[in-house]
Amino acid sequence: MNFTVPNENLNKHECPLAVIKCVDFRFRESDQEYVVKGLGYKDFDLYAWPGSAKDVLKNNGFKVSFIEKIVAVSKNLHNVKKLLLLWHWDCGAYGGSKNFKSPELEEEQYKKDLSIVKNMLLSELPNDLEIIMAYSKAVPQGLEYILVE
Ligand SMILES: [Zn+2]
Repeated sequence: MNFTVPNENLNKHECPLAVIKCVDFRFRESDQEYVVKGLGYKDFDLYAWPGSAKDVLKNNGFKVSFIEKIVAVSKNLHNVKKLLLLWHWDCGAYGGSKNFKSPELEEEQYKKDLSIVKNMLLSELPNDLEIIMAYSKAVPQGLEYILVE
């Protein structure tokens, strides 16, 4: 059965941001809501992979392909200026929250890995591409998104 969806973006060519996030379905809507409403970006390239960009730490083919696509598609084709590395609470790539002794230790690990991944990518990406980092954390109201400074 065919299905038609309205789309006002077909004739656009550029967007300011690329995002890489985890595939986890539990965070799909809230992650995008954070980027749109929390950070104020309506248009962005979206990369999803299990564990977001955590596999960059393995320094393997994932890193090579990811960098290649960011440069060829997001930067050269869409003129993206920023890349957001977005981690999430209870991520299976870390064995979930149950694998940490405390929420503080989970946050610490995310911040540490985000910054290592950022530095590994920075050394290979063009200088004019800025990398920003954020992660979500479970709070009684839902998820709090924290932009890492
Ligand atoms: Zn995950």
